[in-house]
Amino acid sequence: MAVCLAFPLSFSLPPPFLPSFLPLLFSSFTPPPSFFLPFLLPLIFSSLSPPLLPEAKKGGGGRQGPPPCSCLALPVIGGGVAAATGSPLCQRVSQQLLRGRLSLRNRSGESVVHAGWCTTHTRRPRSLFSSVAPPGITVDTMYNSGHHHHHHKQGAPVSPDSAAAADVFEQLCTASTFKSVLYHYRLLCDVLRLKPTNFRNFYPKLKSKLRSWKAQAIWSKFDKRSSHKCYNHGKACTNSKVLIIGAGPCGLRTAIEAQLLGAKVVVVEKRDRFSRNNVLHLWPFVINDLKQLGAKKFYGKFCAGAIDHISIRQLQCILLKVALLLGVEIYENVSFEELTEPPEDQNEKIGWRARLSPADHPANQYEFDVLIGADGKRNTLHGFKRKEFRGKLAIAITANFINKRTELEARVQEISGVAFIFNQKFFKELYAATGIDLENIVYYKDETHYFVMTAKKQSLIEKGVILRDLQDTQQLLHPSNVDRNALMEYAREAADFSTSYQLPHLDFAVNHYGKPDVAMFDFTSMFAAENACRMVEKRGHKLLSGLVGDSLLEPFWPTGSGCARGFLSSFDACWMIRSFSSGKMMPLEVLAERESIYRLLAQTTPENLSKDHSSYSLDPASRYPTINLRAVLPFQVRTLFNTDDPVHLEEITNPHLVNNDELPKKRKRRGV
Ligand SMILES: Cc1cc2nc3c(=O)[nH]c(=O)nc-3n(C[C@H](O)[C@H](O)[C@H](O)COP(=O)(O)OP(=O)(O)OC[C@H]3O[C@@H](n4cnc5c(N)ncnc54)[C@H](O)[C@@H]3O)c2cc1C
Repeated sequence: MAVCLAFPLSFSLPPPFLPSFLPLLFSSFTPPPSFFLPFLLPLIFSSLSPPLLPEAKKGGGGRQGPPPCSCLALPVIGGGVAAATGSPLCQRVSQQLLRGRLSLRNRSGESVVHAGWCTTHTRRPRSLFSSVAPPGITVDTMYNSGHHHHHHKQGAPVSPDSAAAADVFEQLCTASTFKSVLYHYRLLCDVLRLKPTNFRNFYPKLKSKLRSWKAQAIWSKFDKRSSHKCYNHGKACTNSKVLIIGAGPCGLRTAIEAQLLGAKVVVVEKRDRFSRNNVLHLWPFVINDLKQLGAKKFYGKFCAGAIDHISIRQLQCILLKVALLLGVEIYENVSFEELTEPPEDQNEKIGWRARLSPADHPANQYEFDVLIGADGKRNTLHGFKRKEFRGKLAIAITANFINKRTELEARVQEISGVAFIFNQKFFKELYAATGIDLENIVYYKDETHYFVMTAKKQSLIEKGVILRDLQDTQQLLHPSNVDRNALMEYAREAADFSTSYQLPHLDFAVNHYGKPDVAMFDFTSMFAAENACRMVEKRGHKLLSGLVGDSLLEPFWPTGSGCARGFLSSFDACWMIRSFSSGKMMPLEVLAERESIYRLLAQTTPENLSKDHSSYSLDPASRYPTINLRAVLPFQVRTLFNTDDPVHLEEITNPHLVNNDELPKKRKRRGV
């Protein structure tokens, strides 16, 4: 990494020539090392905060991390030039400039009046030069290279800020890791001096500042969605503050809807990487829903042609980008530990908060009135009873192999799901050839070659995968009772046979822990929450809690229902937030309505949901053709409301207030 400063220099060249001129100038200028020191130390290192660096580029995948900036040049009008070459220093300096933490002075100690940011991209040869002025520095000249590649609406003036922002926005759209999406988003907010907040105070500002064709295409999707009457122009829930635990597909989908309703939305995610390779089969309405949110703008290959699947990682990236661009606040590496009640001393009227880890994270101070548990099947939110559904022993194996995207690989047919009962010949031949005994198998060609299968215990024992036959399923599949190499071989053989040995190589992709991505797990038991919501009121503060996704209803994976029912539960939870926030319904009515809708969830199939996917909205009637919102009545959900307010206690106990006498009407069910 080389850094050089040159003083004094004055520019007589017209601005458009500057970008190509600067790197040349600095590559030929080589002052002695001692020349740097007086300038370097105070100028750069003293003002740098810990770097916010995106994760390193992994094999495959698209562009990740910061722009491959090879030169940062800071021209100083009438004073001199500071230039830094190489990454990550360039990136850090530019960040500090953008944040206004780094200021430049010329030799006479005067404040720099103009700071420019020049990046040279090595992959896509192009150059961008734009001016970004840190606060407190007067900018008297703005330059634009005029030959960067962003397309702007004809006639619209292009400010240097928006040119820099357009570049960062472009990279945000194509970023493919959790870290790089967050990195580019935060940089974008810095450049545009925006702070994520509720929809009405964030989205219109962002939209007005980004006008590239790509941005326009995304805004038109968002505008269409947000104009639905159920959001009331982002004013339906302006009084609500929502905390969502988990940035899995369902947590993010819930965040998007709550944000569109106008609530303030914060998501905490305990991980800092989206590392799940597994590929999800999506129901048609989910594909339609994601396309309406602009999925194709963020991931061009999204469900192209007849493809109806996506890797969890990509799905999370798409939803993350949508949520962020609408103004949702998302914190990575922050884990929800427990709820904190409103304090006894109510002088400051402090309400419900969460104890998060790390304890010094600012989100610990966030007060909310809605809490959504979207933290997957190991739900951490207390107060929700779970019921267990036990079936016969079922052992699933997932395996991900590297997709090198060769022509040979492209030709191999997917297996969108084949079960023993439908194709006994295939499974018998598999057993005869390999000793592998399966009940079903799925193969999707996505970012990886993804296989998922249900294996019979006896064949796992015979093939040496399971070491000892134990009664207790947990012990049976405990790592100490599993030979991982034999498991890898088992999965590889099954994959090879089922694709007629056509995949030229079967090298394992790596999982979250950097190990070959093969897993074996038990899905004999599945859990569902007994209730979808509850409400607690303490010291004048109500808290509405709800579960969504796997936390609410664990899916049976062969039906591919996880995301579909998960998204439905997200919409239903947001409909509940809307009812709660409207102030028109009593707490028990809100809870009863939510429980009425939850009763349908486990029965939903692609066939019995409404076929008009483009009309799906938060309104349950738009999705469930025969919904009865009063299937559960307020008096039946008294136990879900816990209050210390005497008036509300009265509501719970007074039969007249809760329609005690009105029993649910028996309805003839036609489908759902
Ligand atoms: C083998 C297999 C195959 C599957 N196939 C399909 C399929 O084909 N189609 C389909 O739709 N579904 C499928 N599923 C199910 C699908 O993966 C899930 O339904 C979906 O991922 C659920 O999303 P979620 O957001 O509810 O939970 P998750 O995806 O589990 O996300 C929960 C998030 O919460 C975070 N978290 C957890 N605890 C905390 C905490 N305390 N604080 C902060 N964050 C926390 C986690 O890190 C995680 O990011 C399959 C599942 C399996 C196991």
